[in-house]
Amino acid sequence: MKRKPKLGQNFLVDDRARHSIVDALGDIRQRTVIEIGPGRGAITEILAARAGRLIALELDRELAPALAQRFATQPNVQIVEIDVLKADLTALIPAGETTDVVGNLPYYITSDILLKLFSAGAAGLLSRAVVMMQREVAERVSARPGVRDYGLLSATAQMNARVDYLFTLPPSAFSPPPEVYSSVLRMDFAPRFAELQVDPRGFDTFLKQSFAQKRKTLENNLRAAGYSSPDLAALWPDTVPRQARAESLTLETMAELYRSLRHLSS
Ligand code: SAM
Repeated sequence: MKRKPKLGQNFLVDDRARHSIVDALGDIRQRTVIEIGPGRGAITEILAARAGRLIALELDRELAPALAQRFATQPNVQIVEIDVLKADLTALIPAGETTDVVGNLPYYITSDILLKLFSAGAAGLLSRAVVMMQREVAERVSARPGVRDYGLLSATAQMNARVDYLFTLPPSAFSPPPEVYSSVLRMDFAPRFAELQVDPRGFDTFLKQSFAQKRKTLENNLRAAGYSSPDLAALWPDTVPRQARAESLTLETMAELYRSLRHLSS
């Protein structure tokens, strides 16, 4: 069996891809950009030449100081040796500004990083993210309701951002090659909570309850979460099919249902 590289270290060696990733951020001359996991600097090198300011977060105790030395003469570049999941993004971003995020993500913590980005996006800290992840995860994040891959991750992502699937790379674009294909997504943060008239925390919980078990109908998942049958019967909107699964409903419909049931959940 192949040994998994430590810290998800599959370094990008495809020159065109690293340029395409930075290009997808758009004009960053006046922007602060946070890079997650700069590694050996494949993407960092291009960012450093283009970004107004670059803050790169690297956990590896050897790679972080090597990068700091390499970019020491570039005053717009800051390398921080830190676990991205423990980093306080509010402390890194100047008050009142938004930042962009980029990264060829370490796959072993992709979901946790995405959740962190969604909550920073909901808090108004982020503008855009261009991130590479395992293809299967990218397909789930970008799936539309009614298709096989649509689920809680898609709904959560799409409540917080417009998601564009940009391109896919084969294992040979990396060294060492991972066992999976990788895809790049662009996420433009535009939280939809106010537009859909739902409170973020309550609606996040409602989505988790609604998608709890894929085999079950939405109504059965809600019953399992503690909603009573008579309440559900009395308050279920006519516009939502009673046998529907959460996977088939748009966010507009989920929000309509949540608004009808909202006072029951507290
Ligand atoms: N950006 C480089 C590239 O494209 O070649 C490296 C990408 S590699 C897939 C992921 C990088 O994330 C590695 O450099 C790894 O050390 C770093 N990393 C892993 N876990 C991390 C964490 N919790 N916080 C910050 N960086 C992490």
